[in-house]
Amino acid sequence: MTSPHLIALLPEVSAFLQRRHGLWIDGGWQPASAPADTPVRNPATGDIISFVSDASADDVDRAVCAARAAFDGPWRAMRPADREKCLVRLSELLETHGEALAQLETLNQGKSIHIARAIEVGASVEYVRYMAGWATKIEGSTLDLSIPVPAGARNLGMTLREPVGVVGAIVPWNFPLMIALWKLAPALACGCTIVLKPSEDTPLTVLRLAELTAEAGIPPGVVNVVTGHGHSTGAALTCHPGIDKLTFTGSTPVGKQIGHQAIDNMTRFTLELGGKNPMIIMDDLDVPAILPGLMAGCFFNQGQVCAAASRLYIQQSAFDRVVGELQNAMQALTLGSGLDPSATLQPLVTARHRNRVAELVSRAREQGVEVVTGGQAPTRPGYYFEPTLLVNAADDNAAMREEIFGPVITATPVRDLDHAIACANDTRYGLAASVWTRDLNAALSAVRRIKAGTVWVNSHIPVDPSLPFGGFKHSGYGREHGSAAIDAYTESKSVCIPVF
Ligand code: NAD
Repeated sequence: MTSPHLIALLPEVSAFLQRRHGLWIDGGWQPASAPADTPVRNPATGDIISFVSDASADDVDRAVCAARAAFDGPWRAMRPADREKCLVRLSELLETHGEALAQLETLNQGKSIHIARAIEVGASVEYVRYMAGWATKIEGSTLDLSIPVPAGARNLGMTLREPVGVVGAIVPWNFPLMIALWKLAPALACGCTIVLKPSEDTPLTVLRLAELTAEAGIPPGVVNVVTGHGHSTGAALTCHPGIDKLTFTGSTPVGKQIGHQAIDNMTRFTLELGGKNPMIIMDDLDVPAILPGLMAGCFFNQGQVCAAASRLYIQQSAFDRVVGELQNAMQALTLGSGLDPSATLQPLVTARHRNRVAELVSRAREQGVEVVTGGQAPTRPGYYFEPTLLVNAADDNAAMREEIFGPVITATPVRDLDHAIACANDTRYGLAASVWTRDLNAALSAVRRIKAGTVWVNSHIPVDPSLPFGGFKHSGYGREHGSAAIDAYTESKSVCIPVF
């Protein structure tokens, strides 16, 4: 914190870190059953920066009961236009406190302050505003029915969309504030109430968000936050019979477990899971011109992005050129704290995660995969890992199969587009993909044949509040964003009325 390169923390941030954080239940801070002594660390140094609580099953029950009471009470009674107003006020508060939130996220998650400002805060403000607008636009349909008895009868049909109820939302550590808001904003727009559980590694911005929801005029109990570990706090939320809908973003194994548990209670669920996303690069593009886009697709947030490109399939005739340019660009990245605005690659989120990435790379090396650049965790404090480019990995190598979720990519030469698409689809995942070419027919052919929830052409990574996002195959179940999110937080009710 003493380096002259690091931006100075706002007093608001330092004061927030000093607290021992309780749970946000029913519109205020409540102590958990156990003392708030779970440390939260700064990935750039490994230092403890704050302490939070580990919510027990009883604590989770209190939060769910508060959410139920708010759902049956003031929130359900509120006009859609008033829910919209609350969400607009929340977006304004997020903007007002934007720099503090960005600093808090960078300190806790490790990401670049630029990304924290532009995405965790900036894009989230726009997301909340977009979803606020939906509160007044949720609609069903009217139908002229053809029920045959009694003879001559006419019936009018209607569908209503009603809030699904109390939502349990479990979020990961890569974009803690943004992904929490991807769940909170549509849930509240639809009239649901929510119990949010952030990752045990990155709880701080969601705790601060809880306070801002109260300032925005959102009634007590509508938003509740329980911090804690997945196997305890998360499992208690997943199994709670008072939850009507579970929305989970995280790894595929945990998502599948949550899906099974949800079915036991017939709880509705949406799962946004992992990816092993292909990037197809054809030989008809100017490599230096597309290089910034390729690098962003692979290394944005240190590759800790579910949709990040990790398997590159490059047309044989361009392979050496693309690999050479990537190698140069990767070697030019400068490792440093997220609070150092000049650093271009930041630490991974935890020592545990960094060690897992290092282990996967060292296993690949032992199995004969060539490490073109990177491959090591540098000896310095914090959880850094060098940007790493692997070539000659066999199709069945773990580096080609498992989600690494770090700054590690594989590059594989392919003969032509057909070969590239066959390789791209040779995975159990199906979250995202990109194809890079000037040939419109080739691009559209790839778009139709790649089995993934999102396919970008000549870019890789951008998302928009209006564009549905989610995975095929083992990458998820359901969609977030746009009208798909409204469907996900409402139930359809059919009404039939005889017309005399
Ligand atoms: P994770 O699955 O380990 O944890 C995610 C959340 O689930 C955390 O809050 C954790 O505490 C909780 N959890 C863990 N075990 C649980 C259990 N048994 N019951 C209930 N909750 C439990 O994932 P992570 O390591 O935090 O995040 C990285 C993963 O998230 C990657 O696989 C990444 O691809 C995925 N992800 C997906 C998307 C998407 O939109 N598809 C977005 C971001 C991250």
